[in-house]
Order: sequence, then structure tokens, then C-alpha cells
Amino acid sequence: MSRLLLIGAPGAGKGTQAERLSAAFAIPAISTGDIFRHNVKNETELGKLAKGFMDRGEYVPDSLTNDLVRDRLSQSDAAAGFLLDGYPRTADQVVELDSILTALGTQLDVVVQLTANTDEVVRRLLNRAIEQGRADDTEDVIRRRLEVYEEQTAPLIDIYASRGIVVRIDGLGEVAEVTDRILEALDARGLTPNL
Ligand code: AMP
Repeated sequence: MSRLLLIGAPGAGKGTQAERLSAAFAIPAISTGDIFRHNVKNETELGKLAKGFMDRGEYVPDSLTNDLVRDRLSQSDAAAGFLLDGYPRTADQVVELDSILTALGTQLDVVVQLTANTDEVVRRLLNRAIEQGRADDTEDVIRRRLEVYEEQTAPLIDIYASRGIVVRIDGLGEVAEVTDRILEALDARGLTPNL
């Protein structure tokens, strides 16, 4: 049973690694960014509320984000483990996630911090914007997203580090190489895919 969290700057490769880890451990990858994009695309109420923030590279308000995660983690497929990608992103979201998990009688096993330098993440995000036509990935917005990450999300790593559950992984290199690094670090913490 694995309860994992992936944290790192936009463009560090969280989404790609989340998919691979989700397959390896047979646990759902829960990406708040994907859930918001899905809602924007389908023009739901939540999507309409979230769109403006996303287009500017700002965070969607905690009130909307926390409710969404509480609902998602209560679904049956998350009972046997999950991998959170892109949540929590603010100190308040950490408090909220603690309370969600306590109510479910569980807690996080490991926080995987993916690192990548700024030039590399800007390059990756600009590429992705071209390849996937992501409206939230123009150059100005990318810079704003990186700033917001540094201000609001990077400090969360210290919170989890003080609990002794952070593993720091170099996110540069081939996708499969990075996955192997993560799997090795998880294995050292007693988390092994049961395939
Ligand atoms: P991502 O794909 O994880 O980079 O998320 C894309 C966008 O969705 C972010 O730039 C935010 O606007 C919004 N978003 C995703 N996750 C969160 C979160 N945990 N808190 C607030 N906003 C979020």
C-alpha cells in the first residue's frame, strides 16, 4: 500500500513520472491540474471558476481545490493507495490534506521531490505549450507559475522534510532513468511495486 505525493516546479516532470509510478504501483494518480483542465474543457461550474486563475498562472483558491481533493480521495479506488500530483501547493492545503487523511485513517508514506533547474523547466514548458497547445503555458504565464511555485509551494518541502518523509530526486535525464531513481528511493523506504 503506497500513499505518495510528488512535488516539484512546473516542468520538473511530475505528470510524466506520476503516470509511470501509478502504473508500477497500480494506484490512481490524482492530479489537481488534470482535474481542473478537464472541468475547464467541459465548461462545468468548477471549470468556469478555475479558468481565470489558471490562465494567469495563479493558483485556484484553496476552498475549491480542497473540496475537490476531499471528494477524490474518498472514492474507493484511492483506498488501497494513491499518488498525489500537484496537491498540496499551499501551506493551508497541507493542513487540509492532513485533516482529510486523518479522517480516512491514513497518512502519507513518502513525498518525492523532483528537482530541475529553471532553464530546463522553462524549455520543457515552452515545448509542451507548442506540442499540446496548453493555454496556460505562454512564456509570461510560465514565469509567473514558477514564481508562484517558489513563493507558495517550495516552502512545503520543509514541512514534509521535518516529518522525515521527503526523498529528493534529480528530475534531469531520460524519463525511464528518472523513474528508476524514484523506484530505487522508494524501495529503500520499503515501498516496492508488487508486480
Ligand atoms: P498543473 O498541471 O499541476 O501545473 O496545474 C495547472 C494549474 O491548475 C495551476 O497553474 C493552477 O492554476 C491550478 N492548480 C492545480 N493544482 C492546484 C492546487 N493544488 N492549488 C491551486 N491551484 C492548482
